[in-house]
Amino acid sequence: MTVRVAINGYGTIGKRVAEAVSLQEDMEVAGVVKRSPTFEAFMAVEWALPLYAASKENIKGFEDAGLPVEGTVEELLDDADIVVDCTPKKAGYKELYQKKKIKAIWQGGEKHELTGLSFNAYPMYEKAYGADLLRIVSCNTTGLIRTLYPLMQEVGVKNVLATMIRRGADPWDSKKGPINAIEPVLKIPSHHGPDVRSVLPSLDIQTTAVAVPTTLMHLHSVAVKLAKDVSADDILEIWDNSPRLMFVDAGMGIKSTAQIMELAKDMERSRGDLYEIAIWEDSVHVVGDMLYYYQAIHQESDVVPENIDAIRAMLQMESDKMQSIERTDRAMGIINPYE
Ligand code: NAD
Repeated sequence: MTVRVAINGYGTIGKRVAEAVSLQEDMEVAGVVKRSPTFEAFMAVEWALPLYAASKENIKGFEDAGLPVEGTVEELLDDADIVVDCTPKKAGYKELYQKKKIKAIWQGGEKHELTGLSFNAYPMYEKAYGADLLRIVSCNTTGLIRTLYPLMQEVGVKNVLATMIRRGADPWDSKKGPINAIEPVLKIPSHHGPDVRSVLPSLDIQTTAVAVPTTLMHLHSVAVKLAKDVSADDILEIWDNSPRLMFVDAGMGIKSTAQIMELAKDMERSRGDLYEIAIWEDSVHVVGDMLYYYQAIHQESDVVPENIDAIRAMLQMESDKMQSIERTDRAMGIINPYE
């Protein structure tokens, strides 16, 4: 069975989801939706992705630019099994998707209330099985869940304090900042803690966040009070057996997010993306019942494989969560802890 996936919004996340879908043997891209003939629209056509306009009014712009358009988003939705919405937050497509009776996935810019179901594959696959609407949690929330959920399962977690050192903007974005300042989020807890609890409601987590002048990844400093005494080696073994995590260390010359991004390019990842959460092995430190570690998050790509598993769960294409995760990861070349 090959399902047809519509991608509405073809920017940072949308183009990556489109590529990930096209790599899966059980999925194909039904079409991608753009509003204007940007370079990304030209590249979509270059890669033979059917291009649709966000509205009838947008079609002329594409035609004037010499880009073939198959129709509007409404027509695309009639020809797809599911839509992945990668538009900026609050673009307001829920009514249209419901009118078209199509299952829909949104991204982390939206609030939990939009769908009532927030998703990360490892803890939530079964709950999303057959669901009509869901939201993939944000890049930072995805990163926290990837390392904390296995600890909750294997050791037990009493509470967490996590500080997010956030990139000021995506690398392509020349408008946002800060460019010469460190900007704390003065609302404490930052939105990340409540967002983690939209997936892991029993977790006692507090978060703070600081924006810094870099475009290369987010960095998390995490302190976890564990439910029982374990060693740093025990923690590393748990993570080694958990999906979508990788270890880096200073001994291999990785002392900053800059080298992690260079490593992703050397690994010949598409666009230099890193879907895994990078944990600094040297930083994993246990004192009594407290665990401390640093991890780095590639904001533009860590959520992409989660979108693929959400499609399989919602369309009931694979009942076994680990089978879905493994299939997604193999197709995308993600480091595989399962063999
Ligand atoms: P983006 O600005 O890079 O891309 C959005 C795309 O949607 C653009 O191509 C834009 O032209 C298009 N668009 C805008 N309005 C539209 C409309 N009405 N109809 C159709 N297309 C429209 O944004 P992004 O970074 O890809 O963010 C998309 C979602 O993913 C947001 O919810 C965001 O919070 C979330 N997200 C972003 C990141 C990140 O680091 N960029 C990480 C995780 C999650």
